[in-house]
Amino acid sequence: MILIDGKKVAAEMKQEIAEEVIKLKASGGRTPHLAAVLVGHDGGSETYVAYKIKDCGAVGFKSSLIRFEDNVAEVELLAKIEELNEDETLDGFIVQLPLPKHISEQKVIEAINPRKDVDGFHPVNVGRMVIGLPAYVSATPFGIVELLKRYKIETNGKNCVIVGRSNIVGRPLSILMSQKAVNTTVTVAHSRTENLGQVCRNADILIAAIGVPGYINGNMVKEGAVVIDVGTTRVKSDQTKSGFKLIGDVLFDEVAEKCSHITPVPGGVGPMTRVSLLLNTLLSAKGEIYK
Ligand code: NAP
Repeated sequence: MILIDGKKVAAEMKQEIAEEVIKLKASGGRTPHLAAVLVGHDGGSETYVAYKIKDCGAVGFKSSLIRFEDNVAEVELLAKIEELNEDETLDGFIVQLPLPKHISEQKVIEAINPRKDVDGFHPVNVGRMVIGLPAYVSATPFGIVELLKRYKIETNGKNCVIVGRSNIVGRPLSILMSQKAVNTTVTVAHSRTENLGQVCRNADILIAAIGVPGYINGNMVKEGAVVIDVGTTRVKSDQTKSGFKLIGDVLFDEVAEKCSHITPVPGGVGPMTRVSLLLNTLLSAKGEIYK
């Protein structure tokens, strides 16, 4: 069994991005600049945004953090987005999700100028990705495809089963996995799928994006399959400094005995998601998506 080391691949990619930034600046370009908007003080969101800001520093990007309290009015947040859309010093920005219940996430996503939507959540970017036009692709699906590529995993003609159909992971991933550059035959499974075990056992590449810890067990995996665990359920732990740990959707020990490749949690898909956001910001700074 080969452990797919997302942390190592992401570190290599960060190095590549840092080198690109140096080249960009040497040729007269400006330092890529990413802004993050954080509403409220949710522990998970605070952590993710802190990582994003730290990652920017590590590759030589400029970053800005814009904070609002939980009770910010939707109209105030939308006004800030309008301002960021017009800010010519910014290559891209993200609004950290989830947002408080009184704010429509869809309205917020659609208010972002697609040219600055480095999260790739705007319907224009999703649509462009679907028909194979240059687009900001959402970070987790992009990171997973990049991991498969860098581990030289054969995808041509293989059966790929994705469990989960969310707009940020399962659904966009199903499109990427069926594109001509990847060529898998994709099945998207979800909570209404019948005989999920049987469906999963048909997978040469099984991707779990469910959010239910340990849901995929050894009986659901074909001998020799490639298993990608996207799940990261945050649970309290007295064994970590932060007081939390992340649990994947796959029962690692049981599944690792049967598969050919597997991603760990943490250290698999998560670091790839982080680096993909940097890559989208770099692509924006270089004007490579919207020419
Ligand atoms: P989500 O929006 O809650 O979607 C979960 C999906 O799983 C839904 O499509 C749901 O089906 C399906 N599902 C739930 N229970 C199921 C079951 N018992 N059997 C089959 N399918 C089931 O979650 P998400 O945002 O895609 O995230 C999924 C997981 O990935 C979470 O743990 C999240 O924290 C993690 N995540 C990790 C990263 C990373 O960078 N590592 C990035 C994003 C998300 P229905 O559509 O029928 O409800």
